Amino acid sequence: MKNLILDIKYYLLFLLVVLVAFYLYLNFGMNFNKNFSPEIIADASFRDEITLQENQSEQIFKGALSKKIKVDKNDTLIKILSSNEVESKYIKALIKTKGSEKLANIKTGDIVEISFTENKIPKEIFVTRNGLKGVLAEFKDKTYAIENHERIPEVIERFASVTIDESLYQSALKEGISDSVIMDLVFIFGWDIDFVFDIRSGDSFEILYEEYFYKGEKIKNGDIKAARFKRGKKVFSAIRFFSKVSGTKEYFSTRGENVKKAFLRTPVEFSYISSRYNLKRKHPVLNKIRAHTGVDYAAPTGTPVRSTSSGTVSFIGNKGGYGKMIEVKHSEDYSTRYAHLSKFNPRLSNGSKVEQGETIGYVGQTGLATGPHLHYEFRVGGNHTNPLTVKLPDAKPISEVEKKEFFDHAIKMINRLDELFLKFYAKV
Ligand SMILES: [Zn+2]
Repeated sequence: MKNLILDIKYYLLFLLVVLVAFYLYLNFGMNFNKNFSPEIIADASFRDEITLQENQSEQIFKGALSKKIKVDKNDTLIKILSSNEVESKYIKALIKTKGSEKLANIKTGDIVEISFTENKIPKEIFVTRNGLKGVLAEFKDKTYAIENHERIPEVIERFASVTIDESLYQSALKEGISDSVIMDLVFIFGWDIDFVFDIRSGDSFEILYEEYFYKGEKIKNGDIKAARFKRGKKVFSAIRFFSKVSGTKEYFSTRGENVKKAFLRTPVEFSYISSRYNLKRKHPVLNKIRAHTGVDYAAPTGTPVRSTSSGTVSFIGNKGGYGKMIEVKHSEDYSTRYAHLSKFNPRLSNGSKVEQGETIGYVGQTGLATGPHLHYEFRVGGNHTNPLTVKLPDAKPISEVEKKEFFDHAIKMINRLDELFLKFYAKV
């Protein structure tokens, strides 16, 4: 009996296919002969229509289908949906749903994910920037509901051990470590290691970091949990710790020292040192011996200049040969000066508070300067000091109350690094 019904089903299906083919022939075949020149046969839109109908019948038999579309400059949600096989009745239903303006508020670079059911109902439409957080429209009981939605990702731990060949960057890429993780590594150790000048081939590092997955697909890189950098004979370590005292995530060495310093290494990110601290230098403009009491960083006009530590603006304005200059006082003892600027951060005036790394002005050549550069001075107790050699104070170490918790965690992480390191090389 069952077989008979199945047979009839197939028979009916066959009949349907024949009828559809006949209908298509009548409609397209005839028109084709009448209206389409041979060049138009090759026209993509003509072929699309046919394949679309084939796909549709495939979808019914093969089940759910999902699409990911990256939002382009002049895209609208409606445009994206209608060009991705969402039928207009669903688009109309979406527009009428409460919260549709949230969903339609797409920006270049966002991702629109559409999941169809086997009957080609666009069951889920998710607009997201990072693959995890976004706005979700869900089709339930013949209508949509739109709300903010956050997916819970799966966090996978990854370990890598890299020996530097030519460049840190290339060697890390070869091991499959992505750009953003390399940048994090450079940021974490950048306070102690100068990655432009200090790295030699043979230096090495181990990192344990996180990767975020959703339904088996990588969404993004997470944090570095622990890392160890061997530069020559020196070993630097960094362990991530969520401090309840400061309410932030910080990295500490295994001895509990903050990997950050109270001062940034350089006040300009992309630059090279064009003149060092030198008390017997011949001044290039005045052409006489005049001590160079700071460090010059050559950089194009307009390059942002950042305050190397947090503090208070104690001078902002024109000052003789310095040109446009800012002085920041960091403590009773420490202050820094930034000279020859083209512009100041308009927010700043005398007494303004500045954060470490905050842009306070822009490179220029005001005052006595032969070309665009930043003149940077580091003063201790009001006296000039060589910013390149001064022993900089450290940022706050692990707090007394969290010491035990941190050291327990640090030991665990270091053991884990060692264990993974051995496994890694046992396999090779
Ligand atoms: Zn200078």
